[in-house]
Amino acid sequence: MNPVPSHFDVVVIGGGHAGIEAAFAAARLGRNTAMVTMDLKAIGRMSCNPAIGGVAKGQLVRDIDALGGLMGLVADQSGIQFRMLNLSKGPAVWGPRAQMDMDDYAARMQEILGRTPNLTLIGGELTDFDRDSEGAYRLRLGTLPQLTCRALVITSGTFLGAVMHTGLEAKTGGRIGEPAAVELAQTLKGMGLKTRRLKTGTPARLAADSLDYTEVEVQHGDAEPFPFSFRTEGPIRNRATCWITRTSSETHEILKTGFDRSPMFTGLISGIGPRYCPSIEDKIARFADRDSHQLFLEPEGLQGERAGRIYVNGFSSSLPAEVQDAALRTLPGLRNCRVLRYGYAVEYDSVDATQLHPTFECRDPLMAGLYFAGQVNGTSGYEEAAAQGLVAGINAALKVQGREPFVLSRAESYIGVLADDLVNLEIDEPYRMFTSRAEYRLHLRQDNAEDRLLEKGHALGMVDDAVLTKYRARAARFEALRARLASTKVTPEFINVFLTAQGGQPVTESVQALPLLRRPEVSLSGLLGYLQIPVTEWTNAEIIALEASEKYQGFLDRQRREIDRTLKLTALRIPADFDYTAAKGLSGEALQKLSRRRPLTVGDAQRIAGVTPADISGLIFHLNR
Ligand SMILES: Cc1cc2nc3c(=O)[nH]c(=O)nc-3n(C[C@H](O)[C@H](O)[C@H](O)COP(=O)(O)OP(=O)(O)OC[C@H]3O[C@@H](n4cnc5c(N)ncnc54)[C@H](O)[C@@H]3O)c2cc1C
Repeated sequence: MNPVPSHFDVVVIGGGHAGIEAAFAAARLGRNTAMVTMDLKAIGRMSCNPAIGGVAKGQLVRDIDALGGLMGLVADQSGIQFRMLNLSKGPAVWGPRAQMDMDDYAARMQEILGRTPNLTLIGGELTDFDRDSEGAYRLRLGTLPQLTCRALVITSGTFLGAVMHTGLEAKTGGRIGEPAAVELAQTLKGMGLKTRRLKTGTPARLAADSLDYTEVEVQHGDAEPFPFSFRTEGPIRNRATCWITRTSSETHEILKTGFDRSPMFTGLISGIGPRYCPSIEDKIARFADRDSHQLFLEPEGLQGERAGRIYVNGFSSSLPAEVQDAALRTLPGLRNCRVLRYGYAVEYDSVDATQLHPTFECRDPLMAGLYFAGQVNGTSGYEEAAAQGLVAGINAALKVQGREPFVLSRAESYIGVLADDLVNLEIDEPYRMFTSRAEYRLHLRQDNAEDRLLEKGHALGMVDDAVLTKYRARAARFEALRARLASTKVTPEFINVFLTAQGGQPVTESVQALPLLRRPEVSLSGLLGYLQIPVTEWTNAEIIALEASEKYQGFLDRQRREIDRTLKLTALRIPADFDYTAAKGLSGEALQKLSRRRPLTVGDAQRIAGVTPADISGLIFHLNR
């Protein structure tokens, strides 16, 4: 075995969802990269739910994929049940989600990282680090030899100073069976970084053979599953089923008997939990008028021990084990259930992300080259973590190469929305992505991720030439079909039979076929079928993409003009050494905050509380000079 070098361009701490994308991206951009993580076998481990994606989260995965990240590609391979959520609503809010074989997902990630050129995987714990006079980071890894690097990306997830709770029992640990990063938490605080205490929780896991499936509702995957990744070749398959059950007032009464021993209600946990992914005890306390909550029973995998385990989605709890046990047994299908692992909560330190640039690098020039990504930045969820990891890894590599930073705007990607929110908003609870957070969500659809991002991923060096060629071929096919529909004129006698069958208004004169797609009742596949244009060469996902772009075209064109105007202004770069004191007309508050935060762009400056539109126009005037 070759000895491990002691100097790297980029070191990534952590092998969770953020660490994987960060390390892969930095190595892919040609930087000599190391991933240091506590347990190499835990790389890619899913701490909680056995699923990837969902509404807005699925969009993040599609965006990561279009930029050349790994999450979507591997999720397609390890997926055992695929569903497009929100199908009854407009395509702007559709969200792909898939159940994973959790062990297969982690194994595939480990295999990919293991064969990624420029990447060294090191099992170890970062306990302490500092920066030398040349700006290199010196990393101390317990008993392992010291490493140095030019850029350091910390993706420590729920592990910083972490404590796990079940009932009144508390012990240190970042995840069940894994230690906490206690010393690193102290190191970061000692450096003066502002941190916050947050918490998250996980539900019980049940023995699959102890459930009565005749009492629960079956939930199947989509008949024609949509892949996450543009790079996935061939169809993906549903190989598993999920089930639905519900709590009752009996369940709630039993859970309430444990409230006096709840670490949350007795004040043992001080960290703030995710508002939109609350524990079952939180739901009962907050929504006292509801006597039932829906729960999903999800398999954790198809092989080995995982095949026998069911995750009770919606029943996250840190109540005492015996209370969880009794409450679970009130649920239809679970009356004789065997609990393999009880739910618990974990409390951990997170870094206040307003100390970071949208590249996730620390704003403080004394910490230049230090990045944070993932749950450590106060987010919740695998997808949010992976998106940040990708951005941090790309930017760490670009920084080492002396290249311009890579920042996505809110108008281009959910990743841009995520980064912009995190570094600008005062967040006091775990942040998760929603479609409602994106002002341009009609434009940021899951179906057009490639149109928005793939060329950018290729320009960076993240996306292969072959993938770009495939994308351009698809775009050309789209154009050809669009042109064919635009040049196809249909007479009222011919088309009204179709339109009235769809429940639409008839036309009175001959029209082009293309604009008919803007009618809500007309689907692309229906129209093509009626016009006898073969659809066999088109995948379901492609049909959806083309249809959505046509349906919203008028609105999208208007929105695009607005985006272009905004982008031009907000993307204006502010040089790193810009002298704000020379920009006449800035208020005292703006001068102080801009000098301290050193925003990368005018858009970034605009988001700082206390910086007024007048300050911004003064700044633009000065920048243009
Ligand atoms: C109990 C529990 C419940 C959760 N519940 C939910 C939920 O309900 N909904 C939800 O969306 N998300 C939930 N999550 C969060 C979800 O797991 C995270 O969002 C996601 O895993 C974050 O990815 P990450 O890469 O930031 O960190 P993680 O996946 O936590 O990975 C962190 C990695 O860093 C390594 N590491 C940490 N410190 C060091 C160090 N000093 N040196 C070397 N390596 C280090 C760890 O070993 C680990 O590999 C839960 C997590 C836990 C633990």
